[in-house]
Amino acid sequence: MNIKETDKKYVANTYNRFDLQITSGKGSIVKDETGKEYIDMGSGIGVTAFGLCDDEWIKAVTEQINTVQHMSNLYYTEPCARLAQMLCGKTGLKKVFFSNSGAEANECAIKVARKYGAEKKGSEYSTIVTLENSFHGRTLTTLAATGQEHYHELFQPLTGGFVHTPANDLEALKRVVSENKVCGIMVECVQGEGGVIPLEKDFLEGVYQLCQKEDILLMIDEVQTGNGRTGKLYAYMNYDVKPDIVSTAKGIGGGLPLGAALLGEKVESVLGFGDHGSTYGGNPVCCAGALSVISRLDDEFLASVKAKSEYIFNELKDAEGVEAVSGMGLMVGIKTKRAAGDIVKECINKGVLCLTAKDKVRLLPALNIDFEVLKKAIAIIKDCCKGKEC
Ligand SMILES: *Cc1c(COP(=O)(O)O)cnc(C)c1O
Repeated sequence: MNIKETDKKYVANTYNRFDLQITSGKGSIVKDETGKEYIDMGSGIGVTAFGLCDDEWIKAVTEQINTVQHMSNLYYTEPCARLAQMLCGKTGLKKVFFSNSGAEANECAIKVARKYGAEKKGSEYSTIVTLENSFHGRTLTTLAATGQEHYHELFQPLTGGFVHTPANDLEALKRVVSENKVCGIMVECVQGEGGVIPLEKDFLEGVYQLCQKEDILLMIDEVQTGNGRTGKLYAYMNYDVKPDIVSTAKGIGGGLPLGAALLGEKVESVLGFGDHGSTYGGNPVCCAGALSVISRLDDEFLASVKAKSEYIFNELKDAEGVEAVSGMGLMVGIKTKRAAGDIVKECINKGVLCLTAKDKVRLLPALNIDFEVLKKAIAIIKDCCKGKEC
């Protein structure tokens, strides 16, 4: 059996894979099993922030592997402490809990919000409000948080205590808050899986005001939008808000599994000994990878992310076959006349790997993608959107 056949036979059937095996890569160029090259406009769903096999990242990770690859959280290790310090220094948030994925980062955020509500206002203050069309993860609790019914249907009963309300409707949110005992409101600044849709500025700033007024925690899910993706270190920095909890994952480790829940002043002391934990959480190799990623996301680098973003939006907004372009930074959704799935398939044939989100073509290239490579990819994507002879 070749690899594709072996995978089909032995790996659980949860992914509808393309007929493509990736065997190597460097930066934003990957190769398949036949040696054909592709420009990677998906970066492992926004994970390989500096592309594949980035030299600096490899050095940081291999140095750590050769030192201590893992210790239990009973002991101190340097990368974990340094990364927490760096994240707090760059955000003004106070403490960090490390986990291994986005869903787990959100689980931590949810536990913190529930404990804060219980201690501050009473145990009935356990409801968390999230938005319709949101995505917060695949565990039973983060599925409950996810405001899309089709993810829920087959897995009842889910964790209780989540209420969904439409994005960009502050009056509806205020009603939900008045009718429930709410401890937290959790949102994505740009709904990623939901179709790459940014929240309106007035709405998110209104949510923030409401949270301040009612002593409700503002929880921002930055799993996809975080770590430079939108042209700021975190997407909330594009808005005039101050979150109480920021959860992140995907790009933070540059390709190693790492999640983080950043806790602000109100909640920095909510978790005590034994309240939460994770065997792998804060793993030194993952944290060394993350230090290499986060330390490079300075103003100059983030300006280059914005410049590439502007190029993409300008190229695509009036392109033939494109109905609309949405998103922020290097998180781009393209509403196309033809079916997004067909365009993605044709892009593969022409040597570009793209993603979809709902009915859109989604781009999440590596943040350091070479400008010339990016231009080539966008030209091919535009061609496929036109869709004559792809
Ligand atoms: C991907 C994603 C998650 C889930 O992250 P995992 O690492 O797959 O658990 C949660 N929230 C958002 C916004 C995401 O994009």
